[in-house]
Amino acid sequence: MKETKEKFLKDSSAKSKDLEHKSRLQHAFDNYHNKQKKSLLQFSDLQLAKERAGGIRQKSIENLEKYLIEFESNFIKNGGKLIWARDAEEALIEIDKIIQKHAPEFIIKSKSMATEEIGLNEFLAEKKIDAIETDLGEFVQQLAGEAPYHIVTPCLQKTKEEIKLLFEPIRKKNGETADTENNSAEELTNTARKYLRRYLQTAKIGITGANFLLADCGAIAITENEGNAFFCASATETHIAVVGIEKIIPSINDLELLWPLLATFGTGQKITTYNHIISGPRQADETEGPKEFYLVLIDNGRSELLEKTEQRRALACIRCGACYNVCPVYKNIGGHVYNHVYGGPIGKVITPHLAKDKNFSHLSQASSLCGACTEICPVGIDLHKLILFNRRDEVTENKISTPIAIGAEKLIWLAWKTAMLKRSNMDKGGAKAKNILLKLLFKKLWGKERELPKVAEKSFNQLMREQRNIS
Ligand code: SF4
Repeated sequence: MKETKEKFLKDSSAKSKDLEHKSRLQHAFDNYHNKQKKSLLQFSDLQLAKERAGGIRQKSIENLEKYLIEFESNFIKNGGKLIWARDAEEALIEIDKIIQKHAPEFIIKSKSMATEEIGLNEFLAEKKIDAIETDLGEFVQQLAGEAPYHIVTPCLQKTKEEIKLLFEPIRKKNGETADTENNSAEELTNTARKYLRRYLQTAKIGITGANFLLADCGAIAITENEGNAFFCASATETHIAVVGIEKIIPSINDLELLWPLLATFGTGQKITTYNHIISGPRQADETEGPKEFYLVLIDNGRSELLEKTEQRRALACIRCGACYNVCPVYKNIGGHVYNHVYGGPIGKVITPHLAKDKNFSHLSQASSLCGACTEICPVGIDLHKLILFNRRDEVTENKISTPIAIGAEKLIWLAWKTAMLKRSNMDKGGAKAKNILLKLLFKKLWGKERELPKVAEKSFNQLMREQRNIS
């Protein structure tokens, strides 16, 4: 636990001084906010839309068991095969069993945070199976050997020039001659498209995530901009979707509100380019679609989070990533320093509960509690309060300090309180001595990068008395 925290402190401290990184992120977020401003106009009453969406999601979480049972029955009726996985290990074992039937050299994948969470790519690599990321941003990160930087825009920290360099081997494999002048986004996208197409056209197995599980029709809903997820789900013989149990919603009708909200808060669009509802494998009277459709529903710590009366509200998250984009901490330190798949404000709330080794309680301390995340969240999750509930639990469970440190801290605050409660005590001693004392007591808490406020030579009370000649 100590090492994870120390690493976070070290890495975040270094990253926060990287001004180039800060300006790249700011540029990406400025574009997002400008786009979003226009799309927000589609909601005649945004607050009401958020309240309704929050209501749908909270109802789903409060009745998780009921809706999951309804979903299971409808999904099986549609011809799908459902697998429940308690944790990442179980999910990987089950996925392996499906994949081994086909003994493929590679599988294709669309963007899925659930597969990141269970470490699917690393698992497949050990089995000598290539997992080809087909989402452009994920593909870039895969070429760089890096994890996604953001849950919606995985490579937002990279410049076109950096991507062009990463694409050099791909160009060669495509038989393209390197164009040293042209590195437009279109040209780079075409290079990726050409390279990925041969995998998309020949893959036997496609793996996707899903944005929602629709209880009333036993279908999954996927929203995407590139069409690659649909390729993975429909142009292969076997489609495997890996999804967290909390993605359930009661009805297909709820998408009418949730889809535009997810698009507007996720990417600033009015509606995402492609929205799919996939209800099962190819039926007897159909000529296209996968022969088999497996859904791996993962718990992986979600039930434990559900037991937490307050923090369970975080399970309503629709993974739009909007809270990342307004968070002053994320804007300074970026995505990799969190050292886990979910970063930003939502990561601070859920990662300490979802991470297998539960070593991430320090993330809840890395917040200014400004409330910007709560304000932006399209489903009304009071993130900054949930961060506080995590902190409370850490203190009550004695996770953050040793008994000696707690005892010392209590003594310091007792001395502080005694001094502060009496005017005459406060005025005792010179400013110099007080400044030294403050430094000694609070330097570690205050951090190396910040200057402690200085105690003035004379207090306001002393100045007033002097001015009015009061002894
Ligand atoms: S917590 Fe809210 S703002 Fe953050 S990703 Fe989830 S839905 Fe979006």
